Amino acid sequence: CGIVGYIGNNDSKEILLKGLEKLEYRGYDSAGIAVLNESKVQVFKEKGRIADLRNTVDFDVLAHVGIGHTRWATHGVPSTVNAHPHQSTSGRFTLVHNGVIENYESLKREYLQGVSFISDTDTEVIVQLIGLFAGEGLATDEAFRKTLTLLKGSYALALLDEQDNETIYVAKNKSPLLVGLGETFNVVASDAMAMIQVTDQYVELMDKELVIVKEDKVVIQNLNGEIITRDPYTAELDA
Ligand code: GLU
Repeated sequence: CGIVGYIGNNDSKEILLKGLEKLEYRGYDSAGIAVLNESKVQVFKEKGRIADLRNTVDFDVLAHVGIGHTRWATHGVPSTVNAHPHQSTSGRFTLVHNGVIENYESLKREYLQGVSFISDTDTEVIVQLIGLFAGEGLATDEAFRKTLTLLKGSYALALLDEQDNETIYVAKNKSPLLVGLGETFNVVASDAMAMIQVTDQYVELMDKELVIVKEDKVVIQNLNGEIITRDPYTAELDA
């Protein structure tokens, strides 16, 4: 339903939670955040309100990178297990997803026979595929790109790699997703409303691009790995 992400000089947790609160009006049944600190990802998720999620978050962990999600269940009941973020079996990759993957069952059968799934979501298939392809030796951007070429349906995605605390990988198809630009940070949001309190500069993403978001730069590529340039626009919303 809603996605946020933050990478920069500040601690990410409060920015992510505030961003999710701004998206509450859209409706949701559960919510979660994942934060990456040094080389450790921590996932906090909860069925119910952002206020309930807040109670589970360990505010002592300082983390300059993180992603967050409000879920409106389409595959799998509303529950803490089915709440996003979802992780690959090894725990290396962590993903949030808006939308519906139409071919998740056939992808599971074709590629992921040996994998035991934790949730009932279509989303978990995506992160397990990325984990599979990375395990076969692909770099994270390549594994992500290969996965994107297999997916049918709608998605806005934000991905963390535990082995790289300087990057959020994002992509979209038929679901909205924006990158917001700051002086000492960059953000990701499904709706500028989520992050308007930290920046009014946004770059619109197009379907089937892979976007590499770092603290000090944003690189947009098409699925062949070619770089695309696009100017930001100024969002005019009341903060
Ligand atoms: N299809 C995913 C799920 O059911 C994402 C739903 C959403 O957009 O919130 O978990």
